[in-house]
Amino acid sequence: MAQLVKAVVIIGGGTAGWLTAAIIAARHQARMRTGGFSVTLIESPNIRIVGVGEGTWPTLRATLERVGVPETALFRECDAAFKQGGKFVGWTTGAESDAYYHPLMIPHGFNQVNLAPHWLRRAQGRSFCDFVTPQGRLCDDGLAPKTITHAEYKGSANYAYHVDAGKFAPFLAKHCTTMLGVRHVLADVVSVNQSDSGDIRSVLTPQQGEISGDLFIDCSGFSALLLGETLGVRFKDCGDVLFCDTALAVQVPFETPDAPMASQTLATAQAAGWIWDICLPTRRGVGYVYSSRHTSEEAARETLLRYIGSRHKDLPVRKIPIRSGHREIFWKNNCVAMGLAQGFLEPLESSAIVLVEISAKLLAEQMPACREVMDIVAKRFNDVTTYRWGRIIDFLKLHYVLTRRTDTAFWRDNVDPETVPERLQDLLTLWKYQSPWSFDELDRLEEVFPAASYQYVLYGMGFRTEVIDEETMDTASVARRLVMENERITAELRTRLPKNRELLTRIHEYGLQTV
Ligand SMILES: Cc1cc2nc3c(=O)[nH]c(=O)nc-3n(C[C@H](O)[C@H](O)[C@H](O)COP(=O)(O)OP(=O)(O)OC[C@H]3O[C@@H](n4cnc5c(N)ncnc54)[C@H](O)[C@@H]3O)c2cc1C
Repeated sequence: MAQLVKAVVIIGGGTAGWLTAAIIAARHQARMRTGGFSVTLIESPNIRIVGVGEGTWPTLRATLERVGVPETALFRECDAAFKQGGKFVGWTTGAESDAYYHPLMIPHGFNQVNLAPHWLRRAQGRSFCDFVTPQGRLCDDGLAPKTITHAEYKGSANYAYHVDAGKFAPFLAKHCTTMLGVRHVLADVVSVNQSDSGDIRSVLTPQQGEISGDLFIDCSGFSALLLGETLGVRFKDCGDVLFCDTALAVQVPFETPDAPMASQTLATAQAAGWIWDICLPTRRGVGYVYSSRHTSEEAARETLLRYIGSRHKDLPVRKIPIRSGHREIFWKNNCVAMGLAQGFLEPLESSAIVLVEISAKLLAEQMPACREVMDIVAKRFNDVTTYRWGRIIDFLKLHYVLTRRTDTAFWRDNVDPETVPERLQDLLTLWKYQSPWSFDELDRLEEVFPAASYQYVLYGMGFRTEVIDEETMDTASVARRLVMENERITAELRTRLPKNRELLTRIHEYGLQTV
């Protein structure tokens, strides 16, 4: 008789563990209600969650809506704020005026016409971002992406969230246990029982004894307790491509409680890395991600202090070592990893939580019915997830490889072709003659970063694609119309949208409408 997959056991109660639990439990509610399927999450009361990771991707809106989380509760209980994109300062030349946006709205009419060649031919003094979308200007004006009359999860402009990472996991835990029937076990996994085939049979905890399962999900963070330590899947380091290996994080209070709040993640280039700056309603989260091969900790601390201002010199700074890379495979036997247990890359584009979302969604959709088919699903999962990690590495490296900065060894080393993955080198060659557009997503997978993201970074950093005049002739009139529409929409949104902080205050007071 086939060994059915009925009991899913998740190890780890960080963002990865609880998001995965929510996505699986929401997808399999009917089976859970009849007792034919269970989701148990084991979380150590002694090992704290990583507690950083405040930038997300717009996919989180659909994910949270699907699992039944009210958006108003997210704003109120996780100190969430709107995120409309990233602003990259000092990445291209390091000059005073050097900045570009990677907004979350795709270019206007993107699925109809590629506006990039039209911008390349006649930018008329406008940045690529401003040519194709209102969002850079909304961010410059400090505006929110929606109004109080928009229903939950809806908006005029695409958006994601900045969240308090320390509050997000407990918030999801409450939802999973009270609404979705997830069993929560507070206990330390101290050993793992395996069968002769290597499958995990059960885990042992001093507090709750032995806990058995059919499928184990490793969300134990950097330690990768099951996939790495128990099943011996090796870590593939990519520090030769992405050099940053340490983060210094600090929480900075606002000068006044009503100080204006940016709705973009600010990423400011520094001598040996970059500083993130994220606004929550209550405080800013700031951190220097740097390469310890290119600067000392002392110099990095000075850089961070210079950025936040000497009046904040007594704020506690947390040092977090980071190792760029990922496991060689992500699913072995009856164990699949999510989150930091899969791997980690510097948080330049908030790629970690979105990867948890789409990995968990894939797992929930493809949940193997029995052990017999598990290896087939595992192979698919490994192929897709390996592809995704590779694409994210390429995309992050793109931000470095286009720099014209030569002021420090960090920036000079970053453009060394030896450090650029082959696929990215090929794409950069291709993009000299054709701009990235929908056909770059050959596999029709749910891409973490769509072609639009590549356009924003490439053209934001001054990359030039050769455009043959005749190629834009066919679409010239549609393109002109789209550009004019974009200007009209921009002007309209700039008069209609409230300031970011103002809307957040109203959401806390009145809540958003549910549909
Ligand atoms: C500096 C930094 C900045 C980041 N910024 C971003 C960002 O802006 N956007 C983004 O998307 N991501 C970001 N990330 C990544 C993000 O923080 C993580 O992907 C996310 O928090 C998920 O973490 P996790 O749940 O995998 O691991 P953790 O939060 O480390 O959770 C691990 C869990 O496993 C449990 N555990 C461990 N061992 C045992 C055991 N033996 N028994 C029982 N339980 C155990 C722990 O108790 C804990 O509950 C950032 C990460 C870092 C380091």
